[in-house]
Amino acid sequence: MAFQPRFTDQTPWDKPLGKIVCVGRNYADHAKELNNPVPTEPLLFMKPATSASHMADGVVLPADLGDVHYETEMAVLIGQALTKASVEEAAKAIVGVGAALDLTLRDLQSRLKEKGHPWERAKGFDGSCPLSDFVPAQVVSDLQDVQIKLTINGDVRQDGNTEMMLYKVVDLLSHISQWCTLEAGDVVITGTPAGVGKLNQGDQLSVELGGLIQVTTEVR
Ligand code: ZN
Repeated sequence: MAFQPRFTDQTPWDKPLGKIVCVGRNYADHAKELNNPVPTEPLLFMKPATSASHMADGVVLPADLGDVHYETEMAVLIGQALTKASVEEAAKAIVGVGAALDLTLRDLQSRLKEKGHPWERAKGFDGSCPLSDFVPAQVVSDLQDVQIKLTINGDVRQDGNTEMMLYKVVDLLSHISQWCTLEAGDVVITGTPAGVGKLNQGDQLSVELGGLIQVTTEVR
């Protein structure tokens, strides 16, 4: 069944999930930890809708494909189409704010990067984008002042704030829409702060987005 985004009050959104547009290296401290240059324009890639899962249902690692890294990110749900949109139009199109895990087959991604090949095999596998439920956008007073925190087995692994983004959320949406139309039901995940690392079977995860979202889940 197609993945349907839902809100924290458990109401499903009225459209199935479209595409997931992802932003790489949007926090300088994360670009540095992987020895990547800080980009001069947003680095974009996509995950198919089939990569999405409900985060609270558990995180399933693919077998025999090498290390899987977590990246904890703010996700925004798009409520109306954006084509060559201004930042004002982009701001109005956000209907939900949630948390995402951008799961990455890091060994495979490193091999693909060396060859100059696309990253999709490392980024777009089934289950590679666990999504939390979304809060309505209007309850978020400032998209650029939200704490992003990941705790694994009681240890804080990632603890950043969206104020550290190189490109702000509305700038990203406007930028993406100059290149490809964002449609109602699409999700944009906005990059990860530092602290990425490997997931292991049985890990207990707690994902927090400011005071807005808190999800506990397990790696299976
Ligand atoms: Zn990411």
